[in-house]
Amino acid sequence: MAQADIALIGLAVMGQNLIMNMNDHGFVVCAYNRTVSKVHDFLKNEAKGSKVIGAESLEDMVSKLKKPRRIILLVKAGQAVDDFIDKLVPLLESGDIIIDGGNSEYRDTTRRCQSMKEKGLLFVGSGVSGGEEGARYGPSLMPGGHKEAWPHIKDIFQSIAAKVGTGEPCCDWVGDEGAGHFVKMVHNGIEYGDMQLICEAYHLMKDVLGMDHDEMAKAFDSWNKTELDSFLIEITANILKFHDSDGTHLLPKIRDSAGQKGTGKWTAISALEYGTPVTLIGEAVFARCLSSLKDERVEASRSLSGPQGVKFSGDKAAFLEDIRKALYASKIISYAQGFMLLRQAAKEFGWTLNYGGIALMWRGGCIIRSVFLGKIKEAFDRDAELQNLLLDSFFSNAVQDCQDSWRRTVSTGVQHGIPMPCFTTALSFYDGYRHEKLPANLLQAQRDYFGAHTYELLSKPGKFIHTNWTGHG
Ligand code: NAP
Repeated sequence: MAQADIALIGLAVMGQNLIMNMNDHGFVVCAYNRTVSKVHDFLKNEAKGSKVIGAESLEDMVSKLKKPRRIILLVKAGQAVDDFIDKLVPLLESGDIIIDGGNSEYRDTTRRCQSMKEKGLLFVGSGVSGGEEGARYGPSLMPGGHKEAWPHIKDIFQSIAAKVGTGEPCCDWVGDEGAGHFVKMVHNGIEYGDMQLICEAYHLMKDVLGMDHDEMAKAFDSWNKTELDSFLIEITANILKFHDSDGTHLLPKIRDSAGQKGTGKWTAISALEYGTPVTLIGEAVFARCLSSLKDERVEASRSLSGPQGVKFSGDKAAFLEDIRKALYASKIISYAQGFMLLRQAAKEFGWTLNYGGIALMWRGGCIIRSVFLGKIKEAFDRDAELQNLLLDSFFSNAVQDCQDSWRRTVSTGVQHGIPMPCFTTALSFYDGYRHEKLPANLLQAQRDYFGAHTYELLSKPGKFIHTNWTGHG
């Protein structure tokens, strides 16, 4: 009998938690998994006493669904998604909806949208952020694809999503094709940037100011009561406070070699592909790559030296505030760059993106959740067509207020030999973006000199000319 509101395939950590979240909100969910024994285990354990029902096969699952059928896939991204789609298509009817909630590549989602449309089915690719905790109690959800599906899934999605402010859900329709997964990808890239910026602040506190763990934890705790109020600052303070079973701090014992799963890299690749200077996320990805060369760095540390005998002799409290402001200004640059990439993608693919809505979707439920995102939402509320966050008065004033501190932080860090790839690239971007004239006139001349690539004169825009620079025929 058709009794389930929605089905979910994929009973790993994300799927199980999302099912229980939907169950809590009054929806009847039918659970299915490739390895069917996991359905039985789930019903006997985590889902015991709930309204969740199970299916023994895809046919069984489809027969238990109300129409139009709504099926969420939360399986490993890639081939597994295509395999399930291929098996589902013959079992479904026109108007039924397949939702991919995994971390799929946005181009795969666009491809799947096209192929499902030809079969009369609706397809949604939805970013799901917030890890298992988010999935269970309120994730940030970023759905995109066939908009005709939205009225049929809106209630479920907005009910289970995180809420902010006066109960606004961190979920709205993002856009066509792979827009939802693109936005999720940029979210993950921004997450890489936020994390690296905090790591650079920690490095400066530790090695320039010589702060101990308790002092650093106190600093991050106090920063969390400022404009930097965010989940990542909060957990950083907690990590710094954490003691191992032997009573000493755990953090310094952790090997300084960062892992990555790929979504930061995808964001950087997209930035290069669409010619958008998303330098901070790129540097954050490369910082992880450099950290992973641990053995090579250990070797290099024996022969390569940095500045000798430099000791911080200034006002420690004042410099700590400089670091905080450098972090805030750099974060503004990172988000400005992330939204530049969203704008460019919207142009490339003809998507209509609601930038304020995206800021609201990231405001709660996800790893980059912060008070700051509320300010971004307000900037797009003031001007939905805002060209760049840096051109909004709130953000331009904020950067202006931080600017001296930011420059002091970068120059002091450089003098002490501290690597700060994200602080420095953010400042370089700011200085580049605010310059009416850059040295690209010389670059154009060089290109024309060796490759006859032509250049424009300032006085004659749009007219490309070539000069014989050497006088040789
Ligand atoms: P996962 O480890 O990525 O995937 C496990 C699930 O995929 C299981 O249900 C497994 O079925 C199924 N699966 C794997 N290979 C398959 C194949 N070839 N054919 C059919 N099914 C296959 O699970 P997860 O961590 O819960 O993540 C689910 C999705 O959400 C992923 O796309 C992930 O990237 C995304 N995501 C994860 C997080 C997180 O914090 N974990 C956060 C956001 C998004 P069996 O049990 O039969 O092996």
